[in-house]
Amino acid sequence: MNYIHSTIAQLKTSSPAQCEFYQAVEEVLESLEPILENSEKYKKNAIIQRLVEPERQIMFRVPWVDDEGNIQVNKGYRIEFNSALGPYKGGLRFHPSVNASIIKFLGFEQIFKNALTGLPIGGGKGGANFDPKGRSDAEIMRFCQSFMSELYRHIGPTTDVVPAGDIGVGAREIGYLFGQYKRLTGRYEGVLTGKSLLWGGSLVRKEATGYGAVYFADYMLQARGDSLQGKRCLVSGAGNVAIYAIEKLYQMGATPVSCSDSRGTVYHESGIDLNLIKCLKEQSRDCLSVYKQTHPDAIYISVNDYPKDGHAVWRFNAAAAFPCATQNELTQADASALLSGGCLLVSEGANMPSTKEAIDCFIAAKIAYGPGKAANAGGVATSQLEMAQNASMQSWTFEEVDEKLKQIMKNIFVTANDTATEFGEPGNLLLGANIAGFRRVADAMIEQGVV
Ligand code: GLU
Repeated sequence: MNYIHSTIAQLKTSSPAQCEFYQAVEEVLESLEPILENSEKYKKNAIIQRLVEPERQIMFRVPWVDDEGNIQVNKGYRIEFNSALGPYKGGLRFHPSVNASIIKFLGFEQIFKNALTGLPIGGGKGGANFDPKGRSDAEIMRFCQSFMSELYRHIGPTTDVVPAGDIGVGAREIGYLFGQYKRLTGRYEGVLTGKSLLWGGSLVRKEATGYGAVYFADYMLQARGDSLQGKRCLVSGAGNVAIYAIEKLYQMGATPVSCSDSRGTVYHESGIDLNLIKCLKEQSRDCLSVYKQTHPDAIYISVNDYPKDGHAVWRFNAAAAFPCATQNELTQADASALLSGGCLLVSEGANMPSTKEAIDCFIAAKIAYGPGKAANAGGVATSQLEMAQNASMQSWTFEEVDEKLKQIMKNIFVTANDTATEFGEPGNLLLGANIAGFRRVADAMIEQGVV
């Protein structure tokens, strides 16, 4: 445990006030105890000290002009965390909460997530403290163009493959970012993923994170002789991940009964109306409070009425929970409520959605718990499939990509599960995922020398 305390203490001095980053590091390091104890090579090669320090951090000014002619200034980031396994890969997040801590925690998670996919991709992440809410298309375009005007010099298809989406970045933003990259470099290349199907995107990329989290849940249940069939499921979020988790849950015979956005939660006993959510969130960009206009039998809870110690969405009874919104959206009190409501599975579609205390509750209760870096790896894995299609100038069918995604999610489950057993904690997928991801990256780093 000493190295955890000393590493966090050093980080607090060298990178002050980065709570989310410390949280992500602590969670990984705690799991690594069994492997670090038994193997001198990681200590001798200072792997932990090197892993927690990004290879490169880029921070830049993003000036742009709003529709009223005012000059706005945001802060842009790209953290190139670790390239031992391949070019840096990871999405962009545009959200007012973005700061160095958030981007570093996401980049750190991405190293292990990408390693778990078994694909040749390193870890990186980027974003800006830009709030797309309420902005016109023209404003979004000007922001994206300004962001790319700085970023383009740091990225490339064999160095740093930037967006796919994350919060606030979807097909529209990727289109504007790609257009500006092409204009500045004169190159039409696969430097961005999550592209439109009209110009180099991959089928299933849009659905991949949500579908993947559900496939992962199904593999966890299969290993316990159970399935998703007939299960009532709580889902948080109403973005890309949540929407396609809901879609896949229906396809697998489960009933998703909730979703949420930044303003409130919808609970619909008979099952969430997926087409309505798609209309509200993918087309009219409305908030969920209007859901009740179509479905008066649904319950809507505004954030003002959430419990003081957590989130309303986790206070309903269900067999499974899919946190698909954002970091730390599921607290210890939420975890206890889920467990007393009969929840036997949590599959994380978002990055680090459960607090450390909530995770401890799930592990202690021995329910099926799929940590984000394993359960939501389907998104980035399908980004890599998009890169492979771009590089070979091919486009695969929906069925082909979906089959590969399923296989990747299965491999991640088997790897995490086998590793947990190998280290004496069968069923502890947090431990298994962290050790398996770490081992792949750390061994590659050792083979590549002190760089
Ligand atoms: N933002 C997604 C993630 O957290 C996808 C990243 C990507 O496809 O590059 O993994």
